[in-house]
Amino acid sequence: MQKLMLALFVLFTFQLSLVSQNLQSPSEFLGYPIGSQFSRNHQIVDYFKAVAAARPKQVKIESYGTTNERRGLNLAYISSEENIKNLEAIRTKNLKNIGLLEGKATSSEVAIVWLSYNVHGNEASSSEAAMLTLYNLLTKHNDLLKNTVVIIDPSVNPDGRDRYVNWYNQTADNIYNTDAQASEHQEPWPGGRPNHYLFDLNRDWVWATQVETQQRLKVYNQWMPHVHVDFHEQGINEPYYFAPAAEPFHEIITDWQRDFQTEIGKNHAKYFDAEGWLFFTRERFDLFYPSYGDTYPTYMGAMGMTYEQGGHGRAGLGILNDEGHILTLVERLTHHTTTGLSTIEMASKNAKQLNTEFKKFFNNASLNCKSYVVQGETNHINSLKELLNTHQIQFEKPEANKVSGYQYSTAKKGQMTINNSALVIHSDQPKGKMVKVLFEPNAKLSDSLTYDITAWSLPYAYGLEAIASTTKVKSNTNFTTENQPALNDAYGYVSAWNSMNDAQFLAELLQQNFKVRFTEKPFRSKDSKFERGSLIITKGDNKHIENAVAQLQRIANTFNQELTEIHSGFSQTTPDIGSPDIKLINKQKVAVLSGEGTSSLSYGEVWYFFEQDLHYPLTSINTAHLDRTNLDAYHVLILPNGNYRNVLSEKTMTKLKDWVRSGGKLIAIDGALRNFDRDEDLNLSSKRSENNTETPLLTSYADRERAYSNHLITGAIFKAKVDNTHPMGFGYGQDYFTLKQGSHNYNLLSKGYNVAYLNNTQVFSGFAGQEALKQLDQTLIFGEEPFGNGSFIYMVDNTLFRNFWENGKLFLANSIFMVNNNAFEL
Ligand SMILES: [Zn+2]
Repeated sequence: MQKLMLALFVLFTFQLSLVSQNLQSPSEFLGYPIGSQFSRNHQIVDYFKAVAAARPKQVKIESYGTTNERRGLNLAYISSEENIKNLEAIRTKNLKNIGLLEGKATSSEVAIVWLSYNVHGNEASSSEAAMLTLYNLLTKHNDLLKNTVVIIDPSVNPDGRDRYVNWYNQTADNIYNTDAQASEHQEPWPGGRPNHYLFDLNRDWVWATQVETQQRLKVYNQWMPHVHVDFHEQGINEPYYFAPAAEPFHEIITDWQRDFQTEIGKNHAKYFDAEGWLFFTRERFDLFYPSYGDTYPTYMGAMGMTYEQGGHGRAGLGILNDEGHILTLVERLTHHTTTGLSTIEMASKNAKQLNTEFKKFFNNASLNCKSYVVQGETNHINSLKELLNTHQIQFEKPEANKVSGYQYSTAKKGQMTINNSALVIHSDQPKGKMVKVLFEPNAKLSDSLTYDITAWSLPYAYGLEAIASTTKVKSNTNFTTENQPALNDAYGYVSAWNSMNDAQFLAELLQQNFKVRFTEKPFRSKDSKFERGSLIITKGDNKHIENAVAQLQRIANTFNQELTEIHSGFSQTTPDIGSPDIKLINKQKVAVLSGEGTSSLSYGEVWYFFEQDLHYPLTSINTAHLDRTNLDAYHVLILPNGNYRNVLSEKTMTKLKDWVRSGGKLIAIDGALRNFDRDEDLNLSSKRSENNTETPLLTSYADRERAYSNHLITGAIFKAKVDNTHPMGFGYGQDYFTLKQGSHNYNLLSKGYNVAYLNNTQVFSGFAGQEALKQLDQTLIFGEEPFGNGSFIYMVDNTLFRNFWENGKLFLANSIFMVNNNAFEL
């Protein structure tokens, strides 16, 4: 009997362990109760893989790429056995339903829900919640999966997550310390929020400058989910935030999208009410700027939502907040798990209607503006085509000779004669609403209080001429590609200078030790006219390079660069090629400041610009080491946006000025200018309010935020005048559309060159407060102040902001390679 009992017991425990081996909870798998430690990224991935191995008929893992630091990016597809078997059919049916895939549209009753966790690396509770959500879904909510495919991205930004988690694990006390002053609650620069290049991935959905976004969008566009949630965290004193979102809503958001957000919010509220948890809705997080994880999916037809838990990089495993509450990781991840499951529940309950309404969103026949026609410099057009392809937005070639409609350059009705570079983008395509969002000259704001920039219209960002037409422009898809003719032996070769592509070409030539000249004056050789900034590669300069012509051809092909042969150094109109006005470009050694004091985002933009855009070496110098750095080893020093008050002591300022005096070029961006505007030796000065006397405060307390917004410019587009005879303005026309992100202004330089400046206050796109506008006329955008043998270069507007203002990047390339080119020998 005892033996039998033992045998039964053994059998029983064996079966039990089979079950638990089959599907372990996160706590069982990790070896610690979930929320009692921060899991490193690989542990999260391993858990998802283990679950997929235990439930292969219900969970599929797909690798969709890798990060800059070589961590894997993964998606998990979770559904019923039946749906997982038919996953590909569900996907294609969805695309056919909205016209993105050819074939007969048939209605579907399967909802597709995509949950994205941890886009901000230090908002670290969400990936923990992803594991628990997966487990609970399979163990408690299988019923929801009958008509729902859930796609989970457990870690959108693994490099950022591990930066935070590794730091926390190294820093925290053995038993976590709830004292908010403890070092485990003080994340050091640059923090875990951004990715490797310190980009905010939740501002990158449209621009897709980062590898994480690029790889994710490919899968996203193959699926086009009906619901997308981005899980975030906010300050430690904030309660939970969920949908419905705050105003302003972009006008293309449908009534159904608004209403269903509210229904989802009410469902969450039901669970939060039951536990007595605090939350808020309809405030702060709006739906306008298109590059977020809520707006982008919304403009692609989905219910796009952001959920925000209190916590963030500050909270650690537990922290005592200002309300006397100990906020723990367990609590944070429980909330995120609750809203995740509640979202899936709502999608499942409303699967049929989700499909019907989703389909309606993609019918765009009624949009007012029918066609957007753009034209301009070939490289700018090519960059735009690349962006449109990323979002699977169709473009064609216009057939008309002329188009009329809203003219972007004048903000009035006008006409454009179409040239060979032109593209037309119609709004009556499935992604027509996104076309409207990205191209419309001036997006309508239902409220001026928003979380982000209010202007991004692509023709301005890409420096293109454009017309928005309310009648459909005839078009075809006959794009022809021209092959570059092979180079003949010649005296020299000339290449135009007007885009980032030209700057990349130059950077590569310099890297390959080519000697390259540029012209400060326009000239004619034979029948070609070359503008200021044109690059000249002569045979005589490059005798040191073996097979120089073949090498040049190879590099030109790589960058699709058109070269014009010149057969004599004697020009038709001066300067001749040997003239002092045609200068050799020195191979600049460039350094940038990083670390405390610099804005990590701005530093990241400069870093990314050099490594991934220009492909040119850059040395990063930590501000903590600036005093002992030998600056004579560099030609150029870049100060990204930042607050340098504690970095630039009097002694350091003297060091910088001495270095510039002896020939250095210092490029200051945005906030970095504030260190130079009070310096007695420098001409730069801030423009201050003329009626600085205290005016009586007539704003009521309730209107304080709105009154404050009168003084703000939160990303609006203005037309600046350009001195394109100055090397910093080479390659530009006489006008430049600039994206202003702040209202701090500087007077025009009286000693130096105002390369780009505002001589009007017309807002072409976006929101600018009335008070802020009063200060804007006659202010500096870009300038050079010669100082001794060197120069201070001022960039009031940051042209690298999120790396999407394509047309601004050449100002920086010019500053590096062409401005004040009498570089000293290192
Ligand atoms: Zn966030």
